[in-house]
This record gives sequence, C-alpha cells and structure tokens, in this order.
Amino acid sequence: MDRYVVFGNPIAHSKSPVLQRLFAEQTGQSMQYDALLAPLDDFAGCASAFFQEGRGANVTVPFKEDAYRLANSLTPRAQRAGAVNTLSKQADGTLLGDNTDGAGLVRDLTVNAGFSLKGKRILILGAGGAVRGVLEPMLAESPASVTIANRTVDKAEVLAELFSDLGPVAASGFDWLHEPVDLIINATSASLAGEVPPIASSLIEPGQTLCYDMMYGKEPTPFCVWATEQGAGQVMDGLGMLAEQAAEAFYLWRGVRPDTAPVLAEVRRLLFT
Ligand code: NDP
Repeated sequence: MDRYVVFGNPIAHSKSPVLQRLFAEQTGQSMQYDALLAPLDDFAGCASAFFQEGRGANVTVPFKEDAYRLANSLTPRAQRAGAVNTLSKQADGTLLGDNTDGAGLVRDLTVNAGFSLKGKRILILGAGGAVRGVLEPMLAESPASVTIANRTVDKAEVLAELFSDLGPVAASGFDWLHEPVDLIINATSASLAGEVPPIASSLIEPGQTLCYDMMYGKEPTPFCVWATEQGAGQVMDGLGMLAEQAAEAFYLWRGVRPDTAPVLAEVRRLLFT
C-alpha cells in the first residue's frame, strides 16, 4: 500500500491523519497515512529514510524550512513562500516540494465561504511563516489592497517588500489603522496566549467585514469571540484552511480532489465534541 506521513515535532495533536484517511475512504484510494515524530536535529535523515519507500509527506512545525531545503525541485508557490508543507516523490525518485497553505486559505474563503477576494481591502495580522505562505495565492486573486500589520513592524515591512511585485501590499503597526476593511485575517499566534492583537474595532464594518482566524479549537478563539462582539458580518476559524490545504496535498499525490465539506463536518464532530 502507498505510504504517506505527516512530519512534525510535536505531532501527536495533528489532525492530518484523520483528514487524509477520510479523504482516502471517500475517494476509494488505497493508501496508508500516519503521523511521524521527526527528531529536531535530523529532519533530513528521517525524511530521506521514509522516502526509500514512502510516496508523500505533509510537513508541519518546525520543519517547513528544512523540507524546503530537502526538496530537489519546488513549485513556484513553495519557492515564494520559502517553506514546504507537502513533499511528493516523483517517478524519477526526486522530491517535489509544494506549499498548499495559501491555496487552502483562498479556497476556504472563496469556495466554502463564497467570499471573492477581488477588489477587496484585506488586513492580515501577523508576519510569520503562515503569512509568507499565503501572500502569493491571496495577491493572485486581485484584491484592492493587502496590509500586513505586525507587533514587530520590521517583519511586516520585509514581507511587504518581498511580495510587492505581485500586487498592492503594505506594512503597518497594529494601532496605525482605523478605516474599515472587508476582510481581517488573524495569522498571529496571539490566541495561544488567550490574546487578541490590539487593533481598532473601527476596522470592522458591522454586518460586513469577514473576520478569519487561522487558529481553531474546540471553543471559539479569542479573536473570533472579539470579532463577533464587534458585529462582524461573518466569523470563521482556520479548520477549513487546514482541511483545504490537506485536500490540495491529497490532489497533488493522488490526482483526485476530495470533497472537503463532509470531511470537514466529520472532523469538527470527531475532534471538537
Ligand atoms: P510564527 O511563529 O511564524 O509567527 C507568529 C506571529 O504571531 C508573528 O507575527 C508574531 O509577531 C505574532 N504574535 C505572537 N504572539 C503575539 C501576541 N501575543 N500578540 C500579537 N502578535 C503575536 O507562526 P505561524 O506564522 O507559523 O503561525 C501563525 C498562526 O497561524 C498559528 O496560530 C498557527 O497555528 C496558525 N496556522 C494555521 C494554519 C491552518 O491550516 N489553519 C496553517 C498555518 C498556521 P512578532 O513577529 O512580533 O513576534
């Protein structure tokens, strides 16, 4: 049976095995998918040993940059992101590196939520690896503007500069902004500390602005709670992004696109009830 894994450290919490097994079941693909704890000091050795037999892998924290360096070739979006979350063994034995995080986010917004990004004013909070991974696919949707606001403004400036050839992207501090926007994406890890980035509530146009937190959990995240309190038009967490990036990886490996809606509903039921 074709073997796939997700590499991470830690990895026990990963939802990828459930997602990929449900996709395989739904599409009738014969494959095995497991979580694999890679050693912090030898991702390359662990991945190379797996790929003696294995066909593909997802890669999560903290190995996305190691996977980028390990890949023999890269898709343009992985090249731009500087990080790889999906490895696929090619017919000649080499490893192709892809990054499906941005496509997952864009698909969750445009297909699942029916929210077109074209002509929209977008605010992204955070300037870490996740933001770097999503900027290219988001800018490809032709938004009116993308503003990256971060606690450490320098990091937002570096990203804005790096992607400025792809569209209207600017950097900011959290408290510099006041005018309403169409979409706010929280890509900080502030929710982990139970915090909400200190942005003005006037950025939310009641009944209109879509607020999206890349984080997810059993309970609504602090950012989702705050956005709901401000009267946001729609509030979403990042479980859909997780499912869509997994589906995109599955498609790369198997050439079959799973239907994510029933799988997402099942994962929410299984993991968060
Ligand atoms: P990084 O560690 O690379 O970046 C963290 C970011 O959060 C930085 O911009 C940092 O700011 C900011 N930050 C951390 N704590 C705070 C705080 N208390 N207040 C304000 N800003 C803060 O993380 P990633 O970019 O990899 O991930 C970001 C989030 O996205 C995580 O919660 C992760 O779980 C989620 N994610 C979800 C995915 C999904 O499929 N749903 C996929 C990928 C990520 P500074 O630069 O100033 O330190």
